[in-house]
Amino acid sequence: MRAVDIIAKKRDKGELSKKEIKFFISGVSDGTIPDYQVSAWAMAILLNGMTDQETTDLTLAMADSGETLDLSAIAPIVVDKHSTDRVGDKVTLAVGPIVASCGLPVGKMSGRGLGFSGGTLDKLESIPGYRVDLTKDEFLAQLKDFGFVLTGQSADLAPADGKLYALRDVTATVPSLPLIASSVMSKKIAAGAQAIVLDVKVGNGAFMKSIEDARKLAELMVAIGKLSGRRVTAVLSDMNQPLGIAVGNAIELREAIETLKGNGPVDFVEHCLVIASHMLLLGKKAENLNGARKQAEEAINSGRALKKFKDLVKAQNGDVSYVDDPEKLPGTPYDDDVEADKEGYLSEVNAQTVGETAVDLGAGRAKKGDAIDPGVGILVHVKVGDKVNKGSKLFTILSKNEKDYKSASERLLGALKWSDKQTNPLPLFYDVIR
Ligand code: URA
Repeated sequence: MRAVDIIAKKRDKGELSKKEIKFFISGVSDGTIPDYQVSAWAMAILLNGMTDQETTDLTLAMADSGETLDLSAIAPIVVDKHSTDRVGDKVTLAVGPIVASCGLPVGKMSGRGLGFSGGTLDKLESIPGYRVDLTKDEFLAQLKDFGFVLTGQSADLAPADGKLYALRDVTATVPSLPLIASSVMSKKIAAGAQAIVLDVKVGNGAFMKSIEDARKLAELMVAIGKLSGRRVTAVLSDMNQPLGIAVGNAIELREAIETLKGNGPVDFVEHCLVIASHMLLLGKKAENLNGARKQAEEAINSGRALKKFKDLVKAQNGDVSYVDDPEKLPGTPYDDDVEADKEGYLSEVNAQTVGETAVDLGAGRAKKGDAIDPGVGILVHVKVGDKVNKGSKLFTILSKNEKDYKSASERLLGALKWSDKQTNPLPLFYDVIR
């Protein structure tokens, strides 16, 4: 078998067999298929798609490309969650401690930024010393003893996805339904959690632009999860505008910490409570969503969730004083506001434009392995449906210098659409698929 023939078959819209997919994925993992062939293959899939059978075979081949964890000795149910993409989505950072502090073990291996979408690991690394490179044995021991782990994807788990993910980020091959489904589910299956909540984003700031595509992605991932014996719930949520206020790394971490302290932005808090409720229900900690929500609210109000987060930071070698005093987190030499030069109602705050502007400021990567700047970012002070007066604050930009501020502010003004008539706020959620 030759990689070039498999690429050609996909280029010509053929259906790959299980054997061909296994061959290709094993070549990705052991490095015998070079990056340029993997990139060409990913582009052929992006352009020509895959059947559900191919996507399932691809997922299982990627899950099998390394070790798969068996968590049954740790707890009857360990829960995991995953967002498909994220502009301002710091949900894991708040929801993980909420759910773990309710007594349901949370074992999560998170990713880095991908395209215009931020990554939990990059945000966590704003805390000096915080280890995102736990070994498999450390992951298992911490999950058993402490009931909560938030680390990077271990190189031993779904290594094919690790390589593919980094390549897709810089070859414009992220927004492909089969590549996203297999990437997400291979990691989830390999990491061993028995219950998984998928936060599938839809909108201009998501890889899935329409509700139909997002539903198809969600249904496919739920079906693949079931095939592997997992309990899976997928929630379709809005990503037409950024979630919460902060878009960046340290500033998103700060917002998540404020949320655990009871001071989070309204939309973000609501989003976290809904996701936490689904996790608690799926993990059999509650009999219904209402009961689960009460537990989640109590976890924040009592300070229990914040304590769990601090203990997590300590367990993973981070400097907990940065959680006590988030002002210590990295900042930038320059920050300034962008103000409205007219009045009106907002009909769009384009999440993709905001995400891309944050990447340009240095919050994400232009090419594989680039360093990010943890301090830069954008505070988005407005939401769709808001009435804005002349002179109101629209954004605050945290940048390396005035020049970056100026180009970001121009770009951000282009993220907004205005109306003379009243506009409706956007919903947070569209559907739940079980
Ligand atoms: N999240 C992932 O883990 N993989 C993707 O491909 C997209 C979002």
